[in-house]
Amino acid sequence: MTRQRSSADVFAAANKLIPGGVNSPVRAWRGVGGVPVHIAESAGARVTSLEGVEYIDLVLAYGPQIVGHGHPAVREALHAAVDSGTAFGAPTAGELELAERIVERMPAVEMVRLVNSGTEATMSALRLARAVTQRDFLIKFEGCYHGHGDSFLVKAGSGALTLGQPDSPGVPATLAEKTLVAVYNDLASVRALFEAQPEGVAAVFVEPVVGNMGCVLPAEGFLQGLRELCDEFGALLVYDEVMTGFRVARGGYQDLDPVRPDLVTMGKVIGGGLPIGAYGGRADLLEHVAPSGPVYQAGTLSGNPLAVAAGLATLAVLDQPGTYEQLERAGERLASGLARLAAERDVPLTVNRCGSMLGAYLNPGPVASFDEVMKSDRESWPRFFHAMLEHGVLLAPSPFEAWFLSTAHDDATIDGILAAAAHGFDAVRG
Ligand code: PMP
Repeated sequence: MTRQRSSADVFAAANKLIPGGVNSPVRAWRGVGGVPVHIAESAGARVTSLEGVEYIDLVLAYGPQIVGHGHPAVREALHAAVDSGTAFGAPTAGELELAERIVERMPAVEMVRLVNSGTEATMSALRLARAVTQRDFLIKFEGCYHGHGDSFLVKAGSGALTLGQPDSPGVPATLAEKTLVAVYNDLASVRALFEAQPEGVAAVFVEPVVGNMGCVLPAEGFLQGLRELCDEFGALLVYDEVMTGFRVARGGYQDLDPVRPDLVTMGKVIGGGLPIGAYGGRADLLEHVAPSGPVYQAGTLSGNPLAVAAGLATLAVLDQPGTYEQLERAGERLASGLARLAAERDVPLTVNRCGSMLGAYLNPGPVASFDEVMKSDRESWPRFFHAMLEHGVLLAPSPFEAWFLSTAHDDATIDGILAAAAHGFDAVRG
């Protein structure tokens, strides 16, 4: 592993060749200031920078590394897969095995198609929903992220019930206006959109727990209410479980609640740190996908043997007895410790949590919607981030990213995070 170049050197050079120096904008540190820590290597709950500084990692590749970095079982599976061949463009037995593992876990998934990213999964699920309903409109929620497909890059504009405006140049307005934006945890906002488009809505897309504004939990009855509205208006309910899938419970959020979506999108954990995505759901819907049916969707590297091997190994580790209980305990230890430290320092803090996924807001709370998330103290947050970094903890460089824990985050690691957080809250208090 070469360590000659510093993060600053690499970043300066990368800025000339890669837009903003990063291959995904969430990796930039524009919101917190400074040069992104460039990673040289990782093990368990830790990553090591090019400079050789070790950090406890709460990013975990934005979710996939749920069994910790470089778990021996995942590495072994990957080595074996490399030896067998990296891509064939022909079906493999491993793809069936991963489909079996997904279908047996997720109650709403009877058939599944593997793709290469969460973005591809949501784009494909939307095409399928539009095709089977023969409708164009979709409803999404302000603050939910479903990848960077054109139809999803839409925010609410000034009013939550207005027609969508493109969030990015390059998204045709004629497409963006098919995306209707509702308020998470507000069923009346969803009903109003349906009533304005009685024949038009193909699907409601929702993160059942919103990981893209920290961690916002569904209010009692919210998801059930979405199910009923979709049934009333003939639309499909699509759970985007790219983040929650196989993380918040063995079968994703569907395992925690009796509501059943029609379609589900997945990614992250099922690739064990390699590129993957998937969409699945009711068999009668998935039968419309080519070559069974006319809805076209394809991929040169879909079901890639390395990604499948890493995903299968990760799911096997997760199936060891007590794993989700351990993740739950780790989440609880961190959340309660953060609350205690903040209270001792009179720092207003709200911690939302679902298993090993947390949102920590500098906000007295409650935090149950996009508007409430945005009321958090965003000005002090960079000080918290940098104090954590200085004391050996790497967070995602945004106050609105979830914090992720893995099975490698043992009690001592959580206590290390809490020791750093004490400094973080001191920095917030100033
Ligand atoms: N859906 C959700 C809920 C996500 O969190 C993400 C990515 N963070 C995506 C879709 C897009 O996945 P990808 O980055 O793999 O395209």
